[in-house]
Amino acid sequence: MRYLGKVYRPPSEAYSLIVQVTYGCSHNGCAFCDMYDDKHFAMRPMQEIREDFELARRVYRHVGRVFLADGDALMRPTRELVEILGLIYGLFPECERVTCYASPRSIQVKTPEELQLLRQRGLQMVYMGLESGCDAVLQKMNKGHTAEAIVAAGQKARQAGLKLSVTAISGLGSTEHLREHAIETARALSAMNPEYIGLLTLMVEPGTPLESWVREGSFTVLNAEQVLQETELFLHHIDSPGSVFRMNHASNYLTLKGTLNDDLPALIARVQEGLRGRGLRSEFMRAL
Ligand code: SF4
Repeated sequence: MRYLGKVYRPPSEAYSLIVQVTYGCSHNGCAFCDMYDDKHFAMRPMQEIREDFELARRVYRHVGRVFLADGDALMRPTRELVEILGLIYGLFPECERVTCYASPRSIQVKTPEELQLLRQRGLQMVYMGLESGCDAVLQKMNKGHTAEAIVAAGQKARQAGLKLSVTAISGLGSTEHLREHAIETARALSAMNPEYIGLLTLMVEPGTPLESWVREGSFTVLNAEQVLQETELFLHHIDSPGSVFRMNHASNYLTLKGTLNDDLPALIARVQEGLRGRGLRSEFMRAL
């Protein structure tokens, strides 16, 4: 495959065929993020996309999953996404699912009928970043959307039949907004009731606005104990029956997995063990 710049995928797409159908992120402005700072958002030429899928067909005997990169593939016009989905399922009849990242904006600009059409043509799930349910945090981090708008986008995707996977970031509220960030993020996720919820933990990337705030002393990075206190508060407020909850990213101090709400007592007990120092990932082992 030919890739332009850094390529990211959710952990659950580790065994998927990844093809860029767009480049970069349509927002590219979050204060903590350097993922796509090496490129401007752009549509990849259809001819190149076709060539990559045809090459993959020649190289791989079995392609069960396809992930459409980069950061906001859903921003591509619907008729082109329909064409891409047709190409995928034509070339790979064995393919069981196609997924992509979506931004609140790319969901907003699509009509419910367009989202339903994409679902019918085989787009099964979109991954969307909430980051925080607290507007003060979203504003500080320049997410470009209020929590209400992100929740509405998530609900719209689900109403169209798309599965939804949503991530939030522990520690994004610093000490100043620790409590609101935990509680309001739990509320926003509960309102979307997505199939999957992922909690990452904030890491400070070089060259980002966040890094300069940390250097200047205007943003305090939470330590492991504070992150776990925030997580415990979050778990006491989340109410999202059936959602698969994962906190198993390399950035997390503690690994947690379970199904909400049934596993909440066990998840909270595990966090409390972590607060007593058991089973924590050491700082130097953390990564994005
Ligand atoms: S966090 Fe997501 S939306 Fe924000 S700049 Fe990074 S990729 Fe784009």
